[in-house]
Amino acid sequence: PVRVRMAPSPTGSPHVGLVRTALFNWAFARHHGGTFVLRIEDTDAARNTQESYDGLLDLFSWLGLDWDEGPDRGGPFAPYRQSERGDLYRDALERLAAGGHTYPCYCTTDEVTARRKAAGSKDLGYDRFCRTLSEEQVAAFEAEGRAPVTRFKMPDGEIAFDDLVRGVVSFHSDHVPDYALARGNGDPLYTLVNPVDDALMEITHVLRGEDLLSSTPRQVPLYAALAEVGIGSGAPLFGHLPYVMGQGNKKLSKRDPEAHALAYRDQGYTPEGLLNYLALLGWAIAADRDVFTLAEMVEVFDIKDVNPNPARFDLKKMDAINTSHLRMLSIDDITHRALPFLKAAGVVGDPVSDADAQLLEQAMPLVGERINKLTETVDMLRFLFVDEADFVRDQADVDKLLDDTGRDIVRASYDAVKDLPTWSTEAIQTALTTALVDEKGLKPRVAYGPVRVAITGRRVSPPLFESMEILGRERSLARLKSAS
Ligand code: GLU
Repeated sequence: PVRVRMAPSPTGSPHVGLVRTALFNWAFARHHGGTFVLRIEDTDAARNTQESYDGLLDLFSWLGLDWDEGPDRGGPFAPYRQSERGDLYRDALERLAAGGHTYPCYCTTDEVTARRKAAGSKDLGYDRFCRTLSEEQVAAFEAEGRAPVTRFKMPDGEIAFDDLVRGVVSFHSDHVPDYALARGNGDPLYTLVNPVDDALMEITHVLRGEDLLSSTPRQVPLYAALAEVGIGSGAPLFGHLPYVMGQGNKKLSKRDPEAHALAYRDQGYTPEGLLNYLALLGWAIAADRDVFTLAEMVEVFDIKDVNPNPARFDLKKMDAINTSHLRMLSIDDITHRALPFLKAAGVVGDPVSDADAQLLEQAMPLVGERINKLTETVDMLRFLFVDEADFVRDQADVDKLLDDTGRDIVRASYDAVKDLPTWSTEAIQTALTTALVDEKGLKPRVAYGPVRVAITGRRVSPPLFESMEILGRERSLARLKSAS
């Protein structure tokens, strides 16, 4: 049975690369009817924050990438936070030592560097000095009070693995040093805890970013050593997902604003759109198709189809895909999703009053088809909900469109609609068309711009005639008057 995991560290704000990794693991698990595990890699107490942990869980809940086992859900291999698994790592260290797979190393970094310089060596790895210490040397170091780190004895020879994305990858162990598994104070390091947990949690496939490709030749022999001492059954299969490149062909980094996954939620993107776009960073459903649902992805997802070449993050394309997903939603769904933004901006009250709910029901069909992000509903709808006393127009749009000519147009509009027997979209449209287009000879685009700014305060708004109907006669006339 397939068992995969996402193993984020709760430091800083989650990166879109993490979401892409999680998505591919999730799709792989769901495609194979397997299990998707959330494991929190929080052994580095100095860098972890509760805020970041909460952000991770919020993010994945928002995305809808549901996990089967995790800190909040439990599961057969609990606990799922590494900070709660210290005993298991101590046990692994003891077993590895007893099995002869590790040794204590007393060297300081300065000593290692000095020896390297003296030998004229360019090799940056550890020189295995402490592998062969005599008992006297050990006793001397101990007497000095040095606390040894624990190093793994890398086996000699070729280390090869068949990467699910890039095929056979091989390294010579000369290039892979005896690396540290635990600090001098006994604290286990990422290098140990990540493979130990994969082994204990029976992870079958590790899909992760290419930045970890150089860790894999170190870890593969460790999984074998762990199996020898009764922990797990050897290395999982690995697939390394391509780098995500940002501006200027540099790797997308935490410094790039588009790298922060939660920002997409806060800016009103849909999780469907974000995930669809991130799927395209290394994968495609078909040569000529960009837009698809998660269910469609799960149906056909095969890790072998992932392209190993770097993928480019393109915000424009992401926006277009997000819009396509918004257009697939029902108006009720859009309303439901927009509500938190409308409440936060004070456009509607919280709870929503009956009057506001009614206005919203009338207005949402007008904006649903026009927005590219849910947050755009705020500026588009504010004109309807605001008290007349608080209504303000966008100053740039006023400067542009409510000049002398514009104000003339608004005045003519006021006269055209003030005595309409029925206040309906059709009646308003007919009256304004007659007055502005037929009688004044204006092009519709020229005619309606100033009226739109007068009524809604902005150049970009829901359709004008419908907006005037919903706003009502009294308020519409007041606004035409105040803009003329
Ligand atoms: N906690 C590690 C990271 O965030 C996970 C590495 C892995 O997936 O193996 O980089």
